[in-house]
Amino acid sequence: MSRVVLVTGGTRGIGAEIAKAFHQKGYKVAATYGDNAEAARVFEEDTGVRTYRWDVSVHKACLEGISKIVKDLGNIDVLVNNAGITKDMMFHKMDYAAWRQVLSVNLDSLFNMTSCVIEPMRAQGFGRIINISSINGLKGQVGQVNYSTAKAGVLGFTKALALETARKGITVNAIAPGYINTEMVANIPTDVLEKIVAQIPAGRLGKPEEVANLALYLASDEAAFITGATLNANGGQYCQ
Ligand code: NDP
Repeated sequence: MSRVVLVTGGTRGIGAEIAKAFHQKGYKVAATYGDNAEAARVFEEDTGVRTYRWDVSVHKACLEGISKIVKDLGNIDVLVNNAGITKDMMFHKMDYAAWRQVLSVNLDSLFNMTSCVIEPMRAQGFGRIINISSINGLKGQVGQVNYSTAKAGVLGFTKALALETARKGITVNAIAPGYINTEMVANIPTDVLEKIVAQIPAGRLGKPEEVANLALYLASDEAAFITGATLNANGGQYCQ
């Protein structure tokens, strides 16, 4: 029987490529989104992947949304915690709202989502949790104290939960993309983006499908011995 995959933020950018890649491999896929109903409608129409709307920073909404997906598709076998936002500004100008919002969507969401799927995964003796971090959670970035903090937190979450779940057939891993060609990066001013690309040894932005392929691999049976890991996809921009 095909496995069920839930991709948060799965209707645009990296998440959409991840959802499509799993769908093409025959998984049953649910893609969630936050606000952009039109993008979700187009994505669902183009791909046939079911979409669901809720705010991943709200625990109750995650509980209700996941129980609907379980009714529609079955227990979640693979959870991809991908939804994320940026609210960039220098720390001395950062207000509490910009701090809280970025922490809530990028990090609290991992608790909100994962806590709803972990017991069924433990009971069935199989699960794959894939968390999308960022190069800037590894190295820090000017104007992103909130985002870098959240994405570094994603790595701590990944490593600790991997230890707790390893004997239950559940792997927990992170992907740390570098700069990938999505709308999130399109919002960076052109002059800043040119400087960023100049620092990428590969000489280009990454493609969303290059991240999606890593997610597919981490979800596979072949990757059963990989847990607590962070896979970088950054064109050589930052080597740990
Ligand atoms: P996009 O902005 O292109 O897409 C973000 C997705 O997340 C959308 O589907 C959006 O829904 C959803 N989302 C945002 N906020 C919420 C919320 N509160 N509740 C539910 N869904 C929400 O982002 P990317 O594809 O560029 O990024 C995907 C992930 O990869 C993020 O975690 C990001 O931090 C990370 N990343 C991205 C990099 C890049 O270069 N692009 C580099 C490193 C990491 P909606 O359409 O409704 O807005």
